[in-house]
Amino acid sequence: MSTPDKPRRQFLETSVALGVGSVLASSATSASTAASLEPRDEFTYEVVRSEEEWRGMFDEDTYKILREGDTEWPKSSEWWDDYRDGHFACRGCNLINYESTWRANVKKGWVFFSQSVPNTLLMSIDGITPDGMADDKAGASTEVHCRRCGSHMGHILKVNNKVLHCINGKALDFTPA
Ligand SMILES: [Zn+2]
Repeated sequence: MSTPDKPRRQFLETSVALGVGSVLASSATSASTAASLEPRDEFTYEVVRSEEEWRGMFDEDTYKILREGDTEWPKSSEWWDDYRDGHFACRGCNLINYESTWRANVKKGWVFFSQSVPNTLLMSIDGITPDGMADDKAGASTEVHCRRCGSHMGHILKVNNKVLHCINGKALDFTPA
C-alpha cells in the first residue's frame, strides 16, 4: 500500500511532456491506461478557464490540488471523516463524480470510494518522466481527473487489498441527500 507523497509535482512534468490530450477516457475503475497512451492534441475539455479564472475560484491549497496535481495533507479536508449520505461534485465545474454509497471506510485522511459515477473521470499516468519511462523514485500510478474540466482529483490506489479511488477532499463539494 502506498499513499501519495506530498507535495506531488510529477503531474506538471507529465503534462508538459505528453500534452493535455494524454489524459485518456477510461472506465471508472480501470487502472490500465499505459498501453494506449498517445498524445491527442485535438482534445478539449468542456469547461475551459484561464489561469486567472482558476486562481480566482480557489484558495492556494485547493488551486494546487486541482490545477497542479498536488496532494492535500491527510485529514485536512472537510469530508475525509464525514460519512453522511449525499453526492460529491468536482469543485472545478460541479460535475457529480461520486456518491456517498460508494465511500470506503478507510481512515487514512483522504476520501476513498470504490467507484465513480460512470463517464465522469479521465485517467492519466502519474510519475512519468519526459522520456516516457516511469520515475523509479515516485513510481507510476493512475491519476484521476474530472472529465469535464480536467481538474486533478486524486489517485487510484490499492488499499487493504482493494483498488480504491483516493480523492482529495478539497477537490470535492459535498451536497447532503
Ligand atoms: Zn470538473
